Amino acid sequence: MTVNDALKAAASQIAPACEINGANPARVAKALLMRHLGVKIEWIFLNLTRELDDVDGYFALVKRFANHEPLEYITGEAGFYGLTFNVKKGVLIPRPETEILVEKSLEILSNLPAQKGSPLVAEIGAGSGIISICLALNSNAKIIASDISDDALNLARENAAKFGVEDRIEFVKCAYLDQIYGRFDLLVSNPPYIALDYELDKFVLNEPHEALFGGAAGDEILKNIILVAKNRGVKYLACEMGYDQRESMQNALKFNGFEAEFYKDLAGFDRGFVARNIFANF
Ligand code: GLN
Repeated sequence: MTVNDALKAAASQIAPACEINGANPARVAKALLMRHLGVKIEWIFLNLTRELDDVDGYFALVKRFANHEPLEYITGEAGFYGLTFNVKKGVLIPRPETEILVEKSLEILSNLPAQKGSPLVAEIGAGSGIISICLALNSNAKIIASDISDDALNLARENAAKFGVEDRIEFVKCAYLDQIYGRFDLLVSNPPYIALDYELDKFVLNEPHEALFGGAAGDEILKNIILVAKNRGVKYLACEMGYDQRESMQNALKFNGFEAEFYKDLAGFDRGFVARNIFANF
């Protein structure tokens, strides 16, 4: 079977799955082939008429996608903030909207009043480590990040080493900041915030449920994070949230002494906030 014939057959096998997440079958077929052969896209265009090596191995990958395994888990990579992070099953795949949370956090860090030493940042729910790593790469902050999942912590450490910031970020296994001490200038989190009864597509359901679902209403973990932020006296809190959680976040933040600004994602949905603790000592 030639490379071209394999690509065509693969595209038709994955077309139904692509309808679910809006992916382009021809493009996914090529991405899977790049992964299978370890080649760049140019190689494919130059070798369309060549016989494909290990046809079964290629169609095994195609089958994984047809069974709704996200492409990023199959290729082991995801792009975020202009970088390529390692990803794997068991850990949330980075989403483009989380880049806005990184931007907002960097803005807060750059506007902190001049102080002795580096700003101190804590992250709750590091996942693949994208947020903490992007903050480390673009500021002089010292960062401590938690996660409850060993798979996530291992992957986050691997990514931190990949980008040479392993000395700037400490990854700790715990919920919230339960095993993390000290005071922080900024607490950042993209926590699980989806309501349990929300219907997710089959690809997203292959991601870890503990990274997606925040509880019956969805905003339970976010509310706990606001309480942690207040109790620990953090100066700033920046979080991603669900499109329908603005009102409940606004109330919880106000009640706990935070002045908040909300931001929208690229699709125009409410997606997060940055909040200043009016009682923190500056
Ligand atoms: N911080 C990681 C991310 O933004 C993981 C978040 C999560 O698992 N809920 O992708």
